Amino acid sequence: MDYRTLLRDSIKALPESKRAARQPVSSYTTPDIYRLNYNESPYGPSPKAIKALEEACKRPNIYPDWFSVELKTNFAKLHGLPDMMHVCTATGSSSLINILGEVFLNSGDEVILGDPSYEAFRDTVNVAGATPVMIPLDADMKYDLDAMLGAITSKTKMIVVCNPNNPTGTFTDSAKLEAFIKKVPESVLVVIDEAYLEFVSRPETYSMIKLINEGYEKPLLVLKTFSKAYGMAGLRIGVAAGNPDLISYLGKSGAAWNISFLGQMMAAEAIKDQEYINKIAALNAIERDKLTAELEALGCKVYESQTNFILFKAPKLENTEIYAKLAEQKILIGAPVGMNRVSIGTAEMNDKFIKVMKEILK
Ligand SMILES: *Cc1c(COP(=O)(O)O)cnc(C)c1O
Repeated sequence: MDYRTLLRDSIKALPESKRAARQPVSSYTTPDIYRLNYNESPYGPSPKAIKALEEACKRPNIYPDWFSVELKTNFAKLHGLPDMMHVCTATGSSSLINILGEVFLNSGDEVILGDPSYEAFRDTVNVAGATPVMIPLDADMKYDLDAMLGAITSKTKMIVVCNPNNPTGTFTDSAKLEAFIKKVPESVLVVIDEAYLEFVSRPETYSMIKLINEGYEKPLLVLKTFSKAYGMAGLRIGVAAGNPDLISYLGKSGAAWNISFLGQMMAAEAIKDQEYINKIAALNAIERDKLTAELEALGCKVYESQTNFILFKAPKLENTEIYAKLAEQKILIGAPVGMNRVSIGTAEMNDKFIKVMKEILK
């Protein structure tokens, strides 16, 4: 039988996803492989968070707190939000991105995205039967915010900026982003994905949660994740911050117990250890500078990264050839948009990566 006949119209019409997680099944990597392809933290979580996880492991029989009171309260405290009603939690920010589609998008709505950017957003828009309006990044791989504003029509429902962006690693200055947000009309939901903001080294950088604290009235949601700087990608915890009325609608979709007890207990503790996050960000910045210089010395075009990964274009070889030659040496990196994206590992991992790159490009 042709099961396609059962599908919802938007799924029948769904274009191929570019996301790694939506590709045909590939086997799981063994521990001897350097995973420099998913922007995972090579340092893992705070020791305090690990302790909380060990305690939680003793009680897997109980349901998680479906309101996530402790996690939301600690998150609100860190960001100066008035209370936990400004916060929603879900199974990673990927899950929050799905929820955005379920709660806000009708077929025919337009959603303005950067291109290239995080493909989960485009997938969500397509699943909803809405239309992604892709606005190319500029020559430096930065968001063209004016072009995005210019693309707003009466059909626009949502506009998304990942800051910093993935897969480019590039960053839009906070003041500039704030000014952009304020120019978007109130008929359009602004979504700012700050998955990598902890890694930004530029002075005068701040989260767009600042606007929510200031009582900003127009629709704005800020997404955060525990998958990157917090080193908890396997636990699947994402957070959205926004006006409490807007946040309340996110709870209308998604599973009722959408984060595990283990993840909840661990994240509630991890967020209290900002000293650890600062340490990770500092280590990452040192390695980022080193890798950038080494790749440039090899003749690569390197885009300025403010994240825990670097987008580059190698000379001589295609990105798929670079990928394959590294994979032979048990190093996995990404190969998006005709280029390569390497996650920043520990000093040891990065040295090995550079050593192999030197051999490949010799
Ligand atoms: C990695 C990443 C996320 C995080 O996804 P999770 O589902 O929380 O693991 C979100 N947004 C961007 C841009 C990312 O690169």
